[in-house]
Amino acid sequence: MIRLKDVEMEYPNGTRAIRGISAAIEDGEFVFIVGDSGAGKSTLLKLLTREIAPTSGRVFVNGYNLAKIKNKKIPYFRRSIGMIFQDFRLIPDLNVYDNVAFVLRVTNKSKKTIRHRVPYVLNLVKLADRAKSYPEKLSGGEKQRVAIARAFASDPKLIIADEPTANIDPALSYDIVKLLKEINKCGTTVIMVTHEHSLVEYFGGRIVSLKNGEVIFDEYVEGEAQDE
Ligand code: ADP
Repeated sequence: MIRLKDVEMEYPNGTRAIRGISAAIEDGEFVFIVGDSGAGKSTLLKLLTREIAPTSGRVFVNGYNLAKIKNKKIPYFRRSIGMIFQDFRLIPDLNVYDNVAFVLRVTNKSKKTIRHRVPYVLNLVKLADRAKSYPEKLSGGEKQRVAIARAFASDPKLIIADEPTANIDPALSYDIVKLLKEINKCGTTVIMVTHEHSLVEYFGGRIVSLKNGEVIFDEYVEGEAQDE
């Protein structure tokens, strides 16, 4: 669950990147966040992951009050979020299996859990046969599918995808969103920032549009793919 109450974010240079946003996202929702460059999308994501704190207002994510959270608790809070980036951020000297297993190892998951969970998520993203490949041997679409498997491996409450289709073949963008939709059906809340209007029109759902740090549109839109 996410709650924003009268959130303002002013950077030290005086730029008001977020101007009074109040919004709620319930568990299990899939939300597209759209808006032109400079609209405040990255700033909003940074507020949700507590990379930055708001100048005023309140931000609640996954049961944490981010205005009051203690620094030592931030790493635990972040474990409740799976992140997907436009530049994939895989570890180049680990193979696909170990890239996914890594997040489970650093959070001290048991060997049994890792042996069970890693093949499960690689199968979900249809990369079970590439488990031993290194990132450099993968296409952009495959790298992003590994990143999705990694984000989902620890079964987080929330997945945040920051322009996940920006660096992959446009024809494969749909597969990436379909995977995120599948993960969403397992109960994980998904927030996806995108520039690609064609994707948003195709999939539909809840669309939040930002402009100059404000929400100018927040509605459910029927997509062309509704009957799929
Ligand atoms: P978007 O992700 O939608 O492109 P951003 O959140 O990056 O938008 O930026 C929103 C506004 O905040 C822009 O005017 C941008 O120039 C400004 N901004 C972003 N980051 C910083 C920063 N670290 N310091 C000062 N201004 C910033």
